[in-house]
Parts: sequence; C-alpha cells; structure tokens
Amino acid sequence: MIELNNVSKWYGEFKVLDQCSTSVATGEVVVVCGPSGSGKSTLIKTINALEPLQQGEIYIDGKAVHDPSTNLSALRARVGMVFQHFELFPHISVMQNLTLAQERVLGRSTEEATVRGVALLDRVGLGNHADKFPGQLSGGQQQRVAIARALAMDPIVMLFDEPTSALDPEMVGEVLDVMVGLAREGMTMICVSHEMGFAKEVSDRVIFMDQGRIVEDCSTDHFFRQTQTLSARAQDFLSKIL
Ligand code: ADP
Ligand code: MG
Repeated sequence: MIELNNVSKWYGEFKVLDQCSTSVATGEVVVVCGPSGSGKSTLIKTINALEPLQQGEIYIDGKAVHDPSTNLSALRARVGMVFQHFELFPHISVMQNLTLAQERVLGRSTEEATVRGVALLDRVGLGNHADKFPGQLSGGQQQRVAIARALAMDPIVMLFDEPTSALDPEMVGEVLDVMVGLAREGMTMICVSHEMGFAKEVSDRVIFMDQGRIVEDCSTDHFFRQTQTLSARAQDFLSKIL
C-alpha cells in the first residue's frame, strides 16, 4: 500500500529525512516512535505530500507521490490524516465537519454525506453531539470527531501524528479505543505514537527514528522482546519510555 525508497528531505541545509526506506502492506499497522525532532512528523507529512521530498520515491497504492504529474489532491482525498491538534473547523457544527469534504471533494449529496456522518459519529461514540460546535466538546471528543471526519472520506490508509499527546490523560483511552477498533478491522495505519501499550496491543511493526533516519524497522514482538538486539539509541529511548 505504501512504499518509501531512499527518501531524503532537507530544510535548507538541514537534512531532516535521511535515506528513509520502508513499506507498509494493506491492513498493516505500523507505529513510528523516536525522540522529539527525529523527523516523525516530517515523514508522515512527506508520505501525504504535504511536504515535498528532494530525493527518493514514495508510492501510495501504486501512485507516485514524488512525481509532479500525479494528481495529488485525488490521492490525498483517500489518505486520512489525524494530527496532534484536532484541527476541526471551529465555526461549523460537528456534522458539517464530517460532511463538508464528502460533498466538496467526493461530490456526495448532503443526504448521502449525512448518513455516512451519522454512522461514523455513532461509531466513535458521539452520536448525540452532531449539532454541537467543536469548541463545546472535550479534547478527546474532538479528536474522535477528527478521526470520524477522516474516515468519512473512505480512506485507503490512515496516518496519525501523535493523536493523543495533546490530550489530558483521562481522554487518551477513548481515542486509543477508536484506533484499536480501526486496526482490528483491517485498516492500514501508520501511527506516530509514544503509546507503547497501543503499539504492543495492535501494531504489527515498529519503526524507530533518530536524526532523520529509520534506525529500527522490525516486528512489534522483536522491538519489545528482543531489546538487546536493538541499536543503543533505541534501547536508550525504550528505557526512558517504558
Ligand atoms: P518529530 O515529529 O520527530 O518531533 P519533526 O519531523 O517535527 O520531528 O522535525 C524534525 C526536525 O526538522 C526538527 O529538528 C525540526 O526542528 C525540523 N523542522 C521541522 N519542520 C521544519 C520546518 N518547516 N523548517 C525547518 N525545520 C523544520
Ligand atoms: Mg512530531
């Protein structure tokens, strides 16, 4: 579903991604972790072509993200993104947040988009909040709306960038529950997350990044159970986080 071949990216002189290669199969759940500033967010944004790359190749579902002739907006419409800060539209209702892109980008009728929106709000446990504005919801609820909004586009893959790290601790679980459900249903997911419980429970693979490089890319079992075989940086990171 996703393939990265030797992806490098610079911000000016600074090499933020250094020869990153990996691939994610359909239905696979990959957790990306690593120290702050290691390039995790940049990697996610580059996959979705929110940031240009300077070297290498990225394919999503066979389409070349790095190729200027690829229709990126069509591709992006099918890639769900959930950020640390929910980034809902504050001035429209929860339901309108869910229907807007369905209508404008996918050309669905209001009725069709609303039916889908209702089903997804139910699914994330917010069925009776459709008419509220985002500001009337808690952080955890807003993040669940953000996930529902992404799902409304029928994404072929979901990219998460620290979706729970801006939440109060008591709200982390409700968002992770939704993500666990998605993973169990077979959604292809790349999740930047330091929720190691989530990683252990549902991820197939863990990628560990440091200084723009993919330092570890191994099965979740291997990452957590054979820590002595990991690089010193990964071991050090794990010792601080576990
Ligand atoms: P992470 O998500 O792992 O914390 P980021 O991908 O956000 O790391 O950032 C990686 C590095 O790139 C950091 O050193 C950060 O300061 C730098 N960086 C991120 N965005 C920009 C930008 N727009 N311009 C210049 N440097 C940036
Ligand atoms: Mg980040």
